[in-house]
Amino acid sequence: MTVITRFAPSPTGQLHVGNIRTALHNWLLARHAGGRFMLRIDDTDAERSHEDYVEAIRADLAWLGIVPDGEERQSLRFDLYEREFQRLVAAGRVYRCYETAQELDLKRKVLLGRGLPPIYDRAALNLTEADHAAKAEAGEKPHWRFLLNRDEAIAWQDGIRGPQHFDPAQMSDPVIRRADGSWLYMLPSVIDDIDMGVTDVLRGEDHVSNTATQIQMFTALGAQPPRFAHEALLVGTEGKLSKRLGSLGLSALRDEGIEPEALIALLARLGTSDPVDPALDVDQIAASFDLSRFGRAPARFDEAELHRVNAAIVHRLPYARAVHLLPPGMGEDAWEAIRPNLEHIGEAADWWQVVTGPITAPPQEQAEREFLAEAAAALETTGADWAALTAALKESTGRKGKALFLPLRQALTGRDHGPDMSALLPLIGKDAAKARLAAAAG
Ligand code: GLU
Repeated sequence: MTVITRFAPSPTGQLHVGNIRTALHNWLLARHAGGRFMLRIDDTDAERSHEDYVEAIRADLAWLGIVPDGEERQSLRFDLYEREFQRLVAAGRVYRCYETAQELDLKRKVLLGRGLPPIYDRAALNLTEADHAAKAEAGEKPHWRFLLNRDEAIAWQDGIRGPQHFDPAQMSDPVIRRADGSWLYMLPSVIDDIDMGVTDVLRGEDHVSNTATQIQMFTALGAQPPRFAHEALLVGTEGKLSKRLGSLGLSALRDEGIEPEALIALLARLGTSDPVDPALDVDQIAASFDLSRFGRAPARFDEAELHRVNAAIVHRLPYARAVHLLPPGMGEDAWEAIRPNLEHIGEAADWWQVVTGPITAPPQEQAEREFLAEAAAALETTGADWAALTAALKESTGRKGKALFLPLRQALTGRDHGPDMSALLPLIGKDAAKARLAAAAG
């Protein structure tokens, strides 16, 4: 059976790292199995859903290179929900209720006050057709609950949490439809998962109790429930879901110079104890993606670690992949010389400026100036060949180590550290190098 996964965001805000991790893991799960990954826009809540967010979700996934194999939108599927709902009505698996929020709240408080679990008492199940007719007459519209089967024990083998058991007698029948006819999340999601042939539902552990309820919805609709896996929530370094993490979107990370490959590499492993593999090839990451590696402890998202992974990615990023972020004129040789010194591609511009000049070199002592004058002359024979130049100068001056290299680096780049001079010097070129050495010699 082809594995089909889905990512089902509600377009009520920007995706944050937590959602992105869920999207990525679903994509990797499908890719690992040679299956399909679907995007489902959960926009049944017309008031809170916005088209801008739908577009932002698509753009974020595209930036990450996550290409869904298909897209569905809940707001375009109301006919299907209505049909399936009517089947549940006919089967007696949904029922009409009229309690107000205040009444329900009161019922809950009474139960809690008696030390009992606040389970809905199913009072509305006792209403007769005459009662319903009277309510309709009085202009009262019902909301609908799904009738849990209290004799049907709920169990599943969770892909991350292991065996799960729920007693339906300890659960409230969930409200699935509001009095105005609009849908709550629960039932449309199940109808879609059936219709889309979803085989694996992978989502956050905040959905565990929803899963317990939804499993009965699958069976009530005559479908085999999919496999379920629930991931531990993402927390910040300070140990809780920080405000920053909850709102940290891709645009902020992109502005900080984070590359999609870095985010993918880190998020693919977050929640496992496996080391991050800073691989550019997502198939390599997908190949080793394995839900059984994930633990139940909260997954810690550390921005400093993301920047470290980013540096590792940048150090191996091919020119063709980086070129659109590089200053004009900066070629492949320059990229390869400079990238080992970068944490973010944006810093390449600084080093490219060092190559193209002008630079400001620190003033030198008399002895160094004489040495640099000699270097300028030596360049004439060695050309922009660092090994040849330094070998010749070592020979003629007896200098070695720092005394040999540092004044040259300072005169040629204006800095004490930086990319390998043997790669940098040919980029600067013989004439410019000679001029810089001569300038520093005074
Ligand atoms: N729209 C739901 C959410 O964002 C989807 C949950 C699910 O994956 O079923 O929480």
